[in-house]
Amino acid sequence: MTRLRLSMGLVILSVLGGLSGASFPAARAAGEGRDLPLRDFKPRSMLVLPAHEVERAAFPAIDVHNHVNDARGGDRAVPVVELLARMDRLNLKRIVILTGRWGEKLQQVVDGMVTPHADRFTVFTEPDWSRIDEPGFGVAMAAQVRDGFARGARGLKVTKVLGLEVRDRTGQLVTVDDPRLDPMWAECGTLGIPVAIHSSDPDAFFLPVDATNERWDELGEHPEWSFYGPRFPAKRAILDARNRVFARHPGTTFIALHVANHPEDLGDVSGVLDRYPNVVVETGARHAELGRQPRRAREFILKYQDRVLFGTDYAPEEAMYRNWFRFLETADEHFDYWHSPTQGRWTISGLDLPRDVLEKVYAKNAERVLARLGR
Ligand SMILES: [Zn+2]
Repeated sequence: MTRLRLSMGLVILSVLGGLSGASFPAARAAGEGRDLPLRDFKPRSMLVLPAHEVERAAFPAIDVHNHVNDARGGDRAVPVVELLARMDRLNLKRIVILTGRWGEKLQQVVDGMVTPHADRFTVFTEPDWSRIDEPGFGVAMAAQVRDGFARGARGLKVTKVLGLEVRDRTGQLVTVDDPRLDPMWAECGTLGIPVAIHSSDPDAFFLPVDATNERWDELGEHPEWSFYGPRFPAKRAILDARNRVFARHPGTTFIALHVANHPEDLGDVSGVLDRYPNVVVETGARHAELGRQPRRAREFILKYQDRVLFGTDYAPEEAMYRNWFRFLETADEHFDYWHSPTQGRWTISGLDLPRDVLEKVYAKNAERVLARLGR
């Protein structure tokens, strides 16, 4: 009976299909022979779905990846009183300011943010790559990290320039696993502070910027973000070099930023976490990636629930955090990620994480990794 109805339905559909050209000539003409520039294509979803806005994080949260009021200055400064009020409304207990530079610049962030609000802000220091050609660079950077720690920094941040841009006087790129850097990685282990490391970038940034590139819009906006071509190493080579550092420094904890810079391939990230117990990952600016594969991402976070840290990497607007809370806490489907569609033309679905896992991702894991907080 069911089969009969189904086949009748197919017959009716195919008859209608055959007639459609004749029946709706106006509709056909409207779309025919016209090209729509991609930038003008802004489809509105007709899906009617439940939406759950999350005003406050389910647990007091730590954003381990932010740049607010950092040592680079720029246009992102937010008055501290305003920032604290936002954090209170959001149930955000701490923000980690990763880009604290070193020396006097670092001191300014410590004095302005960390010392007056030690329970709310943490700052990391950074290496000074301009000194790469000095003999004993690694030892000098270890000393700089020690000085940064004495000033109040509680971690070392290494940006993607290592592996992609930093060159020594020979013109050679300094690889992530360059032995000159070993004393610096080791010093972080000695001090008991983590290294937050960003190596390479999205897979699509290493591919031709053509009609098959899923980040075509983004690379059109920011052509300087493309690392395709002979001037740059392959992404795999950068990640492999980074992984060799993880292997070589088991006594140092590494926060592999942006889901170990490979959220497109959580199998690869799982391999990193399985091989290197000294590595944890962070989510910054990658909920677009995680949220377009919500079942896989959920499975990944449940499996590595003690090793995933909440981080955003966006200016600390309240709506931004609420977008993340909705992503982590609800089962809502098909909604816009923050700054959509900058990373790609897709939507995300929520992970609906269990409460005990949320508590770990939001804060407990970060508190373990930042064990020397405040000391
Ligand atoms: Zn960042």
